[in-house]
This record gives sequence, structure tokens and C-alpha cells, in this order.
Amino acid sequence: MMQRYHFLQQAQWWDSERVQAYRDEALAKLIRTSYAEVPFYRQQMEAAGVKPSDIRTAADLVKLPVVDKTMLRSGYPDQTTRDTGQKVYEACTSGSTGKNFCIKEDAWTAGWYRASFLLCLDWADWTFGEPHLQTGITLNRSIDRRIKDRLLRCHYIPAFDLHDDRLDENLERIDRYKIDHVWGYPSSLYYLARRAKKQGWNRPLRSVITWGDMVYPRYREMIESTFGTQVRDTYGCCEGMHIAAQCGHDNQYHIHSLDVIVEYLDADNNPVGANQTGDVIVTRLHPGPMPLIRYRIGDRATRSDGQPCRCGRGFELMRGIQGRDTDCVVTPTGNRLIVHFFTGVLEHFQEVDSFQVVQNERDSVQVRIVPRQGFSRETKQHIASTLAERGAEDLRVDVETVSEIPLTPAGKRRFVINNLDRP
Ligand SMILES: [Zn+2]
Repeated sequence: MMQRYHFLQQAQWWDSERVQAYRDEALAKLIRTSYAEVPFYRQQMEAAGVKPSDIRTAADLVKLPVVDKTMLRSGYPDQTTRDTGQKVYEACTSGSTGKNFCIKEDAWTAGWYRASFLLCLDWADWTFGEPHLQTGITLNRSIDRRIKDRLLRCHYIPAFDLHDDRLDENLERIDRYKIDHVWGYPSSLYYLARRAKKQGWNRPLRSVITWGDMVYPRYREMIESTFGTQVRDTYGCCEGMHIAAQCGHDNQYHIHSLDVIVEYLDADNNPVGANQTGDVIVTRLHPGPMPLIRYRIGDRATRSDGQPCRCGRGFELMRGIQGRDTDCVVTPTGNRLIVHFFTGVLEHFQEVDSFQVVQNERDSVQVRIVPRQGFSRETKQHIASTLAERGAEDLRVDVETVSEIPLTPAGKRRFVINNLDRP
């Protein structure tokens, strides 16, 4: 991680030609490796009549088929993974689509994306060892995470509990430990900022870094006006890469061009034009145990117009991310359950294929689940009791199984719908 981080600190100032040359070389190598060692990609390439030598630059990627979660899931793990000679582990997500999806990664994969994330922290003016407050959904931090927290002076607070008195405690903690940096989900930081403003809390911060969901304009406005600093949003994913982050100029995002190639495709898989929005297709340049080539990640984003950024960095720009449309459930005692609250619980249930949460009444919530094999009455009870334990204790949780989660008229999947919020 540190080696890669130091490399990126230099490489971010390369001009775009040099960035592209590095990227294309890494791409050609990725394709050769995947063709030789991963049956899934060899089959895909053979079916498309493409040889590894046909892919020399990012522009050649259109010759290859787009792959999605369903395709990768069907060949997982035998057909889709390779032996890197290192210890591998599984990383699973339900976050970006509401549907479980697993990949394999190793220490090199993790080293690369962690280094890219450190670079984002650099951009937001944080230096190693400065105390920071971080919100997250892990209730029991593992021992190595706790060591990391200690070393990096991270005050980790769960985003499960967003009651006003807990928010006040967090504000006191920021005062007591002279914390200048606050990071986490935009939704949880929005509630922290809103509470701070209401309490007349007034202490400018040096950085607010967000990830994991959409920074709605009202979130940004509230956080920036309360904490007196610009929100730097980052775009990562659970599939072993960090995709993009804001450098602080123009609210655009720099793609981590030495880690990932981003394409934006329309409904017919054709590239969209400048300033147009399309499905995000990523190619991770680091092959790792499970290469991802032209992988449809399930998000939508807007392409930039190709102008370089005023900061002078050579990494390509992305205009914006169309995040997941999501509400927040409010419990009778005033806890706010953000989308990560639900994904943080439900991603541990292998029997859950996908889900949606709907609040129609103040004291109850409906959890709709598309079940997988093994889902039983006990699973239902277990889900309801785990949600209660983690922060929904004053809500009645009705778990019901459905055959599919309906999409919105715009074709989007919504995870959390709060019908009480609507006029
Ligand atoms: Zn920039």
C-alpha cells in the first residue's frame, strides 16, 4: 500500500499522455493474463473473435463484451478466478445493487485500492496521524481495524445510531479531541451537521470526506455551511478498486486512471457523448485473483467534456455520479436508519437475494426480500431481531418475501422508501 501510495503521489502529476501510456500498458497485460489464466474471459474473447493482441489501448475495449454480475456469478469461483500465489479472501457486497455479489481479492488488490484512497485523503489535506472521526456500519471492529484506528487516530462511530443525544456526544467528541476531519456516509454526516447547526455548535473543520451514497445538494449545503469546509466526495466500490474522488476544483471527480478505466454506455451499450450520463462500466487494471474487464457495476455517471482539471493532475475527469436514490427511515424515538444500516445487516444473510425497505407508518417498517435457497421462517425472525438490536428496537419490522423488487418508473431500484416524507 505505502509503495503504491508513494508512486501515486508522483504519478498524479504526470501529464495525460503519460497517464494513458501507463494505463494502456497495464491494460494489455491485464488482457493477456486474463486470457491465459481465467477461463471465463478466454471464453468471452473467443466467442467475440478477439485475441489478446487486439486490445492495445482503452479505445480497443469496445471489441470485448460487457459482463455483469449475473454472468460472473454463474462462473464463480472456478471459471472467474486465477491463482496469484497469495492468500485470497472473499469480499461481498449488497450495497450498490441490493443484491449480494462476491469477488476474490488478495493483499495486492487491497494495497492498490487503499493507496488510491490515501491519495483522496491527501487531496482533502489530511496527513497521517491527524485525528479524525469516521462513521461506518461495522459494529464489531476487527482487531486489525482497531489497531489501524489507533495508529491513524481514527475515532470510529457506528452510523447505526443517529439519535439526537448520540449526535451531541459525537460533537462533544470532536471538541474534546480537537478533531479537524470528519469522514463517512453523506446521510449520517448530514444529520450530524443539521444537529450541530441547531445546537449552535460552531467549529470549522478542515476536511469532510464522504463515500457510499449520494451527496444530495441539500446534504452538501448543510454540511458545508455548518462545518465551514468543502465536502470531498469519493467513489469507491466493494469490488476491489477505488474509482474516483473529488480534488476540490469544480466538483468534478478524478478517475484513478492508473487503477481503473471507466466507460459510460447507453442502453444499447454504445458510448455516450461528453456531458451525457450512462451506465458505468469499469475495467480494473490490477488483475488480482478475479479480473474485472468491462464490468457493469450498476451505477450511472456523467462523462466529462475532456477538459483538464485546474488542479493540474493528469487523471481523467468524471462530471458526476448519479447515485442510488434512497430515503431514510425515522423511528418513533428519533433514530435515523440510513440505507447502510439495512445493507450492513442484510449483507450477512446469504439467504437474501435482494431487498427493499418501505416505511408507511411511524411505528413500523416493511422489509421486502427476494429470498434465496435456505430462506426460512427462522431467517425472517433472525433478520427482524438483528435489525431491532442494531437500532430499530422501537419499530415493528415486518419481513415479507416477494418474487421481485419493482423498479421505479425511471427504471431505478430504490432501497429505502419513506412514504411519510412525501406530501
Ligand atoms: Zn483536479
